[in-house]
Amino acid sequence: MVLAFSGIVLILTAGVWRYAYQQGLDQLAARGQADLALAGDRLVGQLQRYRDLAVLMADHPVISIAARYGVTEGTRDVLVGAADKSAALDILVLSAQGRVMASVSGKHPAELGAYPFVTRALRGALGWGHGPAEPLTQRAFFHAAPIFNDAGRVQGAVVVVTDLNGIDYNWRGTNPAAFFTDAAGEVYIANRTELLFWKRPAGTAGLIPPKGNAPPFSAQMVGPHEIWHLGWGPYLPQEALHLTQDLPVIGLTGEVLLDVAQTRAFAFAQAAALAALCLAFGSLLFLASERRRTLAAANVQLEARVAKRTVALRETNEKLVAEAAVREAAQVALRQAQDDLVQAGKLSALGQMSAGISHELNQPLMAIRSFAENAVQFLERGKAERVGENLTRISEMSQRMARIIQNLRAFARQEHIAPDRVNLQKVLQSALDLTQSHREAAGVTLEWDATGRDIWVRGGEVRLGQVFVNLITNAVDAMAGRTERRLQVEARRQGDVVSVEFRDTGPGIEMPDKVFDPFYTTKEVDQSSGMGLGLSISYGIVQSFGGQIRGANQDSGGAVFTVTLEATAAKELAA
Ligand code: ADP
Repeated sequence: MVLAFSGIVLILTAGVWRYAYQQGLDQLAARGQADLALAGDRLVGQLQRYRDLAVLMADHPVISIAARYGVTEGTRDVLVGAADKSAALDILVLSAQGRVMASVSGKHPAELGAYPFVTRALRGALGWGHGPAEPLTQRAFFHAAPIFNDAGRVQGAVVVVTDLNGIDYNWRGTNPAAFFTDAAGEVYIANRTELLFWKRPAGTAGLIPPKGNAPPFSAQMVGPHEIWHLGWGPYLPQEALHLTQDLPVIGLTGEVLLDVAQTRAFAFAQAAALAALCLAFGSLLFLASERRRTLAAANVQLEARVAKRTVALRETNEKLVAEAAVREAAQVALRQAQDDLVQAGKLSALGQMSAGISHELNQPLMAIRSFAENAVQFLERGKAERVGENLTRISEMSQRMARIIQNLRAFARQEHIAPDRVNLQKVLQSALDLTQSHREAAGVTLEWDATGRDIWVRGGEVRLGQVFVNLITNAVDAMAGRTERRLQVEARRQGDVVSVEFRDTGPGIEMPDKVFDPFYTTKEVDQSSGMGLGLSISYGIVQSFGGQIRGANQDSGGAVFTVTLEATAAKELAA
């Protein structure tokens, strides 16, 4: 594109140069033609004076006599007077045969009578010509006028010789360089003397000096104009417009050489200005297009990058969606497994507690039985008051049994509902009730403020109860064989967090890092418990409520398990 643009600019510039140059040449030619016409007119005017002199002299009676009879008294005076006054080089009177009868200088070419302008005058017409007038001058112009007698016949001729040196002397060195050539192509008059007598060789436009080597010359046409390239010296232009004008009146051709350097420089300046303008404009255009191209390229790159990124993002997204689906499925499976484990854990806990519970139920049952039997006896003895007492005790016992059974049923129930808000105090009480027989069998003292105010937490009643049962059971198990067996249970609310602590006086946790790992147990296998799942299930349950469970050892020995839960507002409406 740059090359094409440069090419176009080059062609345009060349065109403008050519056009401007030709226009300049046209103007130069018009001016030169006027100059040349002026120079021609001046020369013709100057020479015509001598023609008129010849014609006038031919009518002079003294001259007429001299033509016929030779020099007479007064002839010389007339001739000399006329020559002096007109600045003619010489005035000659010739006979009808062409013989010189009188002259001012007394010197003349030998065969003057045979010169064409003389023979022409002797035939009755005006004659003119140029040539050497040795020894007077090298360059002379001749005018010859016939002398008629009264009968109208030619009886001689007057020849006026003009020295051309005197004619062109005044305008030497003036501009432009002008010269006049004759029919033979010889420079006869010139305002540059160095050109005098140069000749035009046949078939060419140029000129060569009469002696020596021809200096450099070449001609060329620019449109209708003839341009000469010269090496003709310091006073002539190196490159010139050549103009000519025929001057038939004097038989010469006027020629002028106009320097074209200025015209050329002007045309060049115009072309250069255009080229500079085009190049500046082109450069701007180029810069703008480059900028646009760079921007477009950057855009394409950006778009490609964006497209790539989009594809990558889409792929990532699809992968994420797939992963999410897999994870969801895994979570569903996990939840199912967890539920199963929870249930298994509960059943295992029930297994553990079964001995205690059956004892727990058996005791009131036995009591009810003996109270009933006693009541029968009291009834027989008519002690209605004691019967009433016994029945009240029976009612109390059955109420206690009903509570135990209710707790058991609640514990065994599988809870599927999402975590809701529960009364912590109530859940703790229920868990303590469930494990009461176990505790008592192991001789564990409980420190627990049953009258504490209600604290509401986020969780599921059944599952939270399971966690507490598990923690209490573990503590009771851990304290087996210890002299001091004390379980402290405490629930506290601090801002939005509720923590429940189970402190025991057992040996403490062997490996606190591992207790929440599934199947981690230190209990013996034959013990009805010892699956190592209790704490890991509890961990999962508490986490599902958004809480935490931690196990640590106390400084005083013994373990402390802390369950932290989210506090919620009281569930008054539901309650
Ligand atoms: P399991 O009771 O079936 O062994 P758990 O997950 O409930 O399973 O308990 C894991 C282990 O954590 C127990 O075997 C015991 O070593 C330890 N552990 C739990 N609670 C206590 C505690 N209060 N004091 C000391 N060790 C405990």
